Amino acid sequence: MSEDPLVGKFAPFRSTIFAEMTALAHRTGAINLGQGFPDSDGPPELLSAAAEAVLSGHNQYPPLPGVPALRTAIAEQRAADYGTPYDPDTEILVTAGATEAIAAAVAALVPAGDEVLVFEPYYDSYGAAIALAGAVRRTVRLHPVGDRFTFDPGELAAAVTPRTRAFLVNTPHNPTGTVLSAAELAVIAEICERHDLIAITDEVYEHLVFDGVRHIPLASLPGMASRTLTISSAGKTFNATGWKVGWVCGPAPMVAAVRTVKQYLTFAGGTPFQHAVAAVLPDRHRWLDGLRTRLTAARDTLRDALTSTGWRCFACQGTYFLQVDARSVGYGDGTALCHDLATRAGVVAIPSGAFYADPASGRELVRFAFCKSPAVIATAAGRLAGFAAGAHREGAA
Ligand SMILES: *Cc1c(COP(=O)(O)O)cnc(C)c1O
Repeated sequence: MSEDPLVGKFAPFRSTIFAEMTALAHRTGAINLGQGFPDSDGPPELLSAAAEAVLSGHNQYPPLPGVPALRTAIAEQRAADYGTPYDPDTEILVTAGATEAIAAAVAALVPAGDEVLVFEPYYDSYGAAIALAGAVRRTVRLHPVGDRFTFDPGELAAAVTPRTRAFLVNTPHNPTGTVLSAAELAVIAEICERHDLIAITDEVYEHLVFDGVRHIPLASLPGMASRTLTISSAGKTFNATGWKVGWVCGPAPMVAAVRTVKQYLTFAGGTPFQHAVAAVLPDRHRWLDGLRTRLTAARDTLRDALTSTGWRCFACQGTYFLQVDARSVGYGDGTALCHDLATRAGVVAIPSGAFYADPASGRELVRFAFCKSPAVIATAAGRLAGFAAGAHREGAA
């Protein structure tokens, strides 16, 4: 075949910077703080529950909506943590990770040609999910105010058009590390109600918040439950990203719509992993307290080493990610910085331009993932501090 067989709407998504930077890490032997996955496994009870589920015959298709014990555990967790009640039979759907939930939700609820609002920078699957649905992406920029990224309410209001159907909201936010506050969420809720928008919320980092910051689901705001689909990921909650167990909670008609699409994407999967997540979700607090403590320490080690050597770091209230300004170490272009970091400092990061529709918009930003062991983070922090010292010397010379 002489012509590229990929249909045009997916052409912008052909290669990802994540694969490129991971390959660079392999080639150079650099520490990979690029892709966001932990380098240690989740709680031992989770792992043994999965092994037990495999050995005790939980290996065939689960029910389409998910294993009943998991849906019950999810309903109990959301009621206990956020006061949001969901019926496990009609208002909860287990998916192949949050990624499938996002793609199925957009495809099920947004007619081709209508618009989906997203904050920019945005997680890379959003653009492809919107393209798959034949919908149109409209972006609202997050800007640093002081050192924290947030949106301008006027810009948000101006982005809505008569074709806008849904608002895909991510909090805690990848890659900026912002956790939207009650006041910011109230602005979003007001926009959704005024324009009758569906809200689809990506809350995969809901439990990974630091310094006493609280995660607030948009669905818990007055009037929002009836128009909001909330998406979670056991992969992020329990250090099991390869399991791809996620879920959607929302009003029965919206969940039924997503189920209809999901049925023909994967039908259902991960039976033993669903059983394992069901077994540990009720006892999540001890694991999550420890995880938050470890992530906070890793963030602090990295951030302190960077700021003390001249790097400008942005606020990180949650997630796995710390963003920095490449200009603070003498680079106008994050991609150039990432290539030099890999080859000269032995650390791989992601240029945050990858999270913008036009990569030039975020060219000065770079993202580090700190969801790694203390020893790995300490080594990477030392290398990055040394790199900055060298960069400043060159700049001075
Ligand atoms: C990791 C991630 C996802 C994907 O979650 P899976 O459960 O692995 O599919 C979705 N959204 C954001 C913001 C993420 O960082």
